[in-house]
Amino acid sequence: MAGNRTFTMIKPDAVENGHIGPILAKISSAGFRIVAMKFTQLSRRDAREFYAIHKDRPFFNELIQFMTRGPIVSAILEKDNAVEDFRALIGSTNPQEAAEGTIRKLYAKDIGENAVHGSDSDENASIEGAFHFSGREIYS
Ligand code: UDP
Ligand code: MG
Repeated sequence: MAGNRTFTMIKPDAVENGHIGPILAKISSAGFRIVAMKFTQLSRRDAREFYAIHKDRPFFNELIQFMTRGPIVSAILEKDNAVEDFRALIGSTNPQEAAEGTIRKLYAKDIGENAVHGSDSDENASIEGAFHFSGREIYS
């Protein structure tokens, strides 16, 4: 059965461009409930660990530079079928391929600076949420 939680980050580009409010409004009106949220800046060490799966990809260093250059908003979101529905709400990794009305279509610049993160599986949603939040920071 599909899980009911996913993990997201509003990335540094979207924070810099003043898009926190509009992105949270989209998330809320799509039926997601926030169960944890905070505003932080990732260290290089954190970013390298979070994105370790991409460490051999050509874009890895650029990704770490981007994700650490300013603050992010991280959150755990709850909804039926959360992972899949949230990926649909954010759209394709490359905003030029993202569907109309999706968060990346509306707010992302390119495949690197693409405004938001969304977990790709229930297992990763759980790992990523636990990476960013302690148990006391998660509403249950
Ligand atoms: N990324 C990039 N260049 C690429 C592919 C990905 O800079 O060619 C960055 C982008 O910020 C993306 C992140 O690496 O969101 C993680 O990539 P992934 O393939 O997991 O995409 P996502 O799951 O975020 O859609
Ligand atoms: Mg991914």
